[in-house]
Amino acid sequence: MSSFSTDGGRVANTSTLRSPLWYCRPGMAISRRTFLKASVGGAVGVSALGFDLTPAYAAVRQLKIRNAREYKTVCPYCAVGCGTIAYTHGSGGLNTTNTVIHVEGDPDNPINGGTLCPKGASQMQLAISPRLRKSPMYRAAGADEWQEVDWDFAMDWFARKFKESRDNTFVERDGQGRTVNRTNGIAWVGSATVANEDAYLITKTMRAMGLTYIDHQARI
Ligand code: SF4
Repeated sequence: MSSFSTDGGRVANTSTLRSPLWYCRPGMAISRRTFLKASVGGAVGVSALGFDLTPAYAAVRQLKIRNAREYKTVCPYCAVGCGTIAYTHGSGGLNTTNTVIHVEGDPDNPINGGTLCPKGASQMQLAISPRLRKSPMYRAAGADEWQEVDWDFAMDWFARKFKESRDNTFVERDGQGRTVNRTNGIAWVGSATVANEDAYLITKTMRAMGLTYIDHQARI
């Protein structure tokens, strides 16, 4: 089988190419990278491939991240901390709507080298998914359905339950008379989507309340 190459006429060894091969016509196999190179050549692409690549070249130039603002960040899901690039549309002005349009691994990051696991690759959904809950949900004791409640209701309910459980299970001294001031009646599970400052304050507060069971969602 003959192969097509634009790099100085050298015929690519298609058996060692790692990217998928594009087969254009019998006897011709080119890599995706070579195809894009050929498209840049314009007339060269036309004569070599037998069809006009101008529309394809135009499509390549109209990337969806064109004009997007680029932010380097870190995937929030687990302790690996993969580097991520988030692209947004919107100027940031008061009369614009900012939205994330694409997220990809940061190729310059030494931890992940541009790769993301499936969970990290979907992290854009944290910002744009229509299934995101934006208010607390509450299921009353004995009920089989959840209902949307406002934050005042949720915070009051949480504070009352927290105090009740702490009062009922607080232990000042252990069996040997040592001061422990702890409660084993409440557990706290942190979230990978809180900031470092949030995590610090949560941990401090929960330990001050006497909790010993404090863990993180990414370890579950
Ligand atoms: S991309 Fe995957 S491995 Fe990397 S930080 Fe996110 S969840 Fe962890």
